[in-house]
Amino acid sequence: MRTFDYSRPDNALQAIGRTVNPGRSYLAGGTTLLDLVKLDVMKPTDVVDINRLPLKQIERLSDGRLRIGALVTNTQLAQHADIRQHYLVLSQALLAGASTQLRNKATTAGNLMQRVRCNYFRDGISPCNKRTPGSGCGAIGGHNRSVHAVLGTSDSCIATHPSDMCVAMAAIGARITVQGRDGTREIDFADFHLLPGKTPWQEHALEQNELITHITLDAPIEGGRSGYLKLRDRTSYQFALASSAVIVALEGQRIRDVRIAMGGVATKPWRVKAVEEALVGNRASEELFKRAAAIAFEDAHAYSQNAFKIPLGQQAVVRNLRNLLA
Ligand SMILES: Cc1cc2nc3c(=O)[nH]c(=O)nc-3n(C[C@H](O)[C@H](O)[C@H](O)COP(=O)(O)OP(=O)(O)OC[C@H]3O[C@@H](n4cnc5c(N)ncnc54)[C@H](O)[C@@H]3O)c2cc1C
Ligand code: SF4
Repeated sequence: MRTFDYSRPDNALQAIGRTVNPGRSYLAGGTTLLDLVKLDVMKPTDVVDINRLPLKQIERLSDGRLRIGALVTNTQLAQHADIRQHYLVLSQALLAGASTQLRNKATTAGNLMQRVRCNYFRDGISPCNKRTPGSGCGAIGGHNRSVHAVLGTSDSCIATHPSDMCVAMAAIGARITVQGRDGTREIDFADFHLLPGKTPWQEHALEQNELITHITLDAPIEGGRSGYLKLRDRTSYQFALASSAVIVALEGQRIRDVRIAMGGVATKPWRVKAVEEALVGNRASEELFKRAAAIAFEDAHAYSQNAFKIPLGQQAVVRNLRNLLA
């Protein structure tokens, strides 16, 4: 049995503590952390339960952006009136994830910080550079069909980022506010998750023990319509093989503005600006959608079992655009 310290502070500075502790983990909904502690993959020595912190509000700012507390649950966020009205893509992405029970516990910051679903990572014993730096990668040359990427991979790690919520946020655009010992700072959503490169154990831009306090969504696009499309082996309680988050606004028949991000195919939530550029200013058509979607995979690299994700990912973009613009 592994023992750990446990505390339930009332404010963020208490949670962060006075000294840096690499063994400290924050406990929010616990749906990732407790799983991985039981599997002996995460081994915290100091568990700080943050559920008493006042981070459960959703508020609209005067500049039109929406500020979400780190502890807002996935259920609350998906059902919030402002989200349903102005960020439907985010509500749909959240509701496509996990199960009702999990969404009732899972929090916004916890979702951002969830770990990969690669079995070699989770079994606690296989070679895995993310879990045990330098040990190799079981998935390259092993089972790499469903939760392994074709974009953003490296020779060290090819696991997909599993979050649905983050794909929608990548399309919307957001800032992440974090509290450290010396004050707060903001991280652009696009810079928060890191590519695996040669250091796949470094997954995000947080410094040791920094605490996420808020996520602030960019103001919605005027006249935009949006949707999340998740393609998977089973239609519920299953991670994406490929997904797309699309926000699009028309001017007459032409696409005035569009934001697209992909999930299930990449090692981080994957905004595809080149696809957006190929669409803007053009008349919406099936032919255009197909040409643009192909651009997203120009740099794709498939592994032994996941080449099907390239056409599937293109389908996720084409079908989503067609649904929104038909
Ligand atoms: C069976 C199952 C199926 C799932 N299916 C899906 C799915 O289809 N789609 C999907 O997107 N997700 C899915 N998930 C993942 C789920 O969404 C995440 O487990 C959840 O969002 C994590 O949130 P949490 O609050 O429970 O995090 P926790 O488990 O409490 O924490 C997760 C990590 O985040 C850190 N953390 C938490 N809060 C903060 C903070 N404020 N600042 C800094 N670090 C913090 C913790 O220390 C920990 O390392 C599934 C999970 C399970 C168990
Ligand atoms: S893909 Fe990444 S998480 Fe999976 S075994 Fe390889 S290094 Fe580990």
